Amino acid sequence: PAGATMLQIRGVHTFYGQIEALKGIDMDVRQGEIVTLIGANGAGKSTLLMTICGTPAAREGQVIFEGQDITKLPTFQIMRLGIAQSPEGRRIFARMTVMENLQMGAITADESKFGEDLERIFTLFPILKKRQSQRGGTLSGGEQQMLAIGRALMSRPRLLLLDEPSLGLAPLIVRQIFEVIRDINRTQGMTVFLVEQNAYHALRLAHRGYVMVNGQITMSGSGRELLANTEVRAAYLEGG
Ligand code: ATP
Repeated sequence: PAGATMLQIRGVHTFYGQIEALKGIDMDVRQGEIVTLIGANGAGKSTLLMTICGTPAAREGQVIFEGQDITKLPTFQIMRLGIAQSPEGRRIFARMTVMENLQMGAITADESKFGEDLERIFTLFPILKKRQSQRGGTLSGGEQQMLAIGRALMSRPRLLLLDEPSLGLAPLIVRQIFEVIRDINRTQGMTVFLVEQNAYHALRLAHRGYVMVNGQITMSGSGRELLANTEVRAAYLEGG
């Protein structure tokens, strides 16, 4: 897809106290794309997703969403503009039921569309329909991940941010989750920005990708180019 640029990240530096976690990041996500960011543990991938959502905000540089500078906006306002995040470790509400979790995701959405949105999520993840009155904390890892993505989708975002959706899941479940991401992108035109350590699946899924090392982008290209790249293969694919 060669849509308009939806998200622009320009010269972004993010700090935790004195620690500079992001050291001048530039990247773009265009409308309708799946973009993947890969990188080792601690490279700064989660920090970039959090910076897009405003917590912690960038100390320098700009985050622009659909032409609007959102760098310094509070997180709830950024969510209202049409960005949703499914955070790492899933962080669903363990003591709430599946249905209550999905309701929480819908909190910024149009109430009259709730039933319709719910059906859409249940079509994507039929298991959630079966589990709707079960507490989140009692779901399997894969089901929790599906719930986290479903919850993010309930706000009808135009940009979906996913932090390591494959983390800790069995290969078969990983494949299912990635298929749903591809499906949401193809059928709903959802723009997806995905952070992953599982480079193989994530790059196969992506239209474009970026590689992050130590708080900086070191490489970018189409998913296919990065998959074929010798350095990428050596660092993120072989034996991994
Ligand atoms: P992982 O895949 O392990 O989550 P990551 O690429 O997402 O790694 P980040 O979690 O963004 O990396 O971390 C980037 C750097 O910032 C690391 O050096 C990390 O130790 C540091 N960092 C992250 N969160 C904090 C925090 N709350 N306070 C201080 N330093 C932090």
